[in-house]
Amino acid sequence: MRVAVVTVGDELLAGETVNTNAAWLGDQLAERGVTVERVTVVPDRIADIARVVNEYHADYDAVIVTGGLGPTHDDVTVDGVAAAFGREVVESEEALAWLEEEGGYAREDLTDGTGDVPEGSRVLPNHEGVAPGCVVENCYVLPGVPAEMKRMFAAVAEEFSGEQTHVVTVDADEPESALLDRLADVQERFPVKVGSYPGDHVTVRFESPDETVAEDAAAWLRERVEQPDEE
Ligand code: ATP
Ligand code: MG
Repeated sequence: MRVAVVTVGDELLAGETVNTNAAWLGDQLAERGVTVERVTVVPDRIADIARVVNEYHADYDAVIVTGGLGPTHDDVTVDGVAAAFGREVVESEEALAWLEEEGGYAREDLTDGTGDVPEGSRVLPNHEGVAPGCVVENCYVLPGVPAEMKRMFAAVAEEFSGEQTHVVTVDADEPESALLDRLADVQERFPVKVGSYPGDHVTVRFESPDETVAEDAAAWLRERVEQPDEE
């Protein structure tokens, strides 16, 4: 399963808020064997949200949108997603009833627009906050507040699955440029995906659906590189 993640928020683009939602979702999805192929940050602007959701829902098995939910003036995600699918925004009786019965809110205390979702959505209740999420075709709309987003994702996590892959890493205390021949060599010998990530030392990452293949490739390289001192 191939997924695109769209995170909405001016504050993310400005670097005022670190996009931890994208990182968390990437990790959760990878654990389920799902490939995240896009992570896009867009401003709180209807046309921008509509454009990427419209493009991604056709190209990927699912789209996950986080942020900009709710009825405050700068929260326009529901409008953007509705526009992407050519749907009206409607007040969901189901969402309002849930907030009243399970959430403990009186209807008259809820800000106008609190129960708004694109027409025909499946409503996702917000156990950690107020604004409901929703599912429109293959697009999952979740809140931006990390605790709310995580809880709501948990409720739909089963809908995301794919082939499990195994990852094994090897640390090398050598410059990346010095490793190039051995990286090419290990790639030729084993049917694995090889990545190398420089930092204090170089971390070489092997990924394969077959655990033995990933382990064997890692073992081959481990014997042929300078290992960092244990700390
Ligand atoms: P609510 O459900 O409460 O209405 P919301 O969906 O409207 O929330 P936002 O208004 O976009 O969410 O953001 C709420 C808070 O969550 C803000 O403090 C924001 O910085 C933070 N937030 C939003 N998106 C992300 C993200 N991708 N990663 C981390 N934090 C985020
Ligand atoms: Mg916002």
